[in-house]
Amino acid sequence: MAYQNDNIFAKIIKGEAPSYKVYENDDTYVMMDIMPEAEGHLLVLPKEGAENIFDISDEAISACMRTCKKIAPALMKATNADGLIISQFNHAAAGQTVFHLHCHMVPVYKGQKRQDHARVQGNPEELVALAKEIASYIE
Ligand code: AMP
Repeated sequence: MAYQNDNIFAKIIKGEAPSYKVYENDDTYVMMDIMPEAEGHLLVLPKEGAENIFDISDEAISACMRTCKKIAPALMKATNADGLIISQFNHAAAGQTVFHLHCHMVPVYKGQKRQDHARVQGNPEELVALAKEIASYIE
């Protein structure tokens, strides 16, 4: 399947749909996942229109990883998490549900089970507050 320009993440990047934005630079856009698997679950999107690892450019996937590295300390500081998972799904069979490549950054809390993938809506007020707090720690 070819990349579809009208997917929800493409609209968010263009400012045509709302998001809980945390950070943006020339190549990437970071926002809260609206159905977090754990408190502080972030999504890092390349601005380049790519569906998955098979069609993204080397430059854009590198930019995503650079942004993950930049945001990670701020995310840990804001959430007091014990660990951090960074993951990225390719094709529906692997669990991909939005077909604009993205990296998940999911904080892990000792002794706490994570929510199922894309199941439970986050509380909007908590998402706003967390987005602001994480952003405040980005250096
Ligand atoms: P994936 O299944 O890897 O494609 O992940 C898609 C992720 O996007 C899921 O974790 C969803 O909870 C999340 N999601 C879907 N729509 C939105 C949205 N409008 N804003 C933020 N996160 C979203």
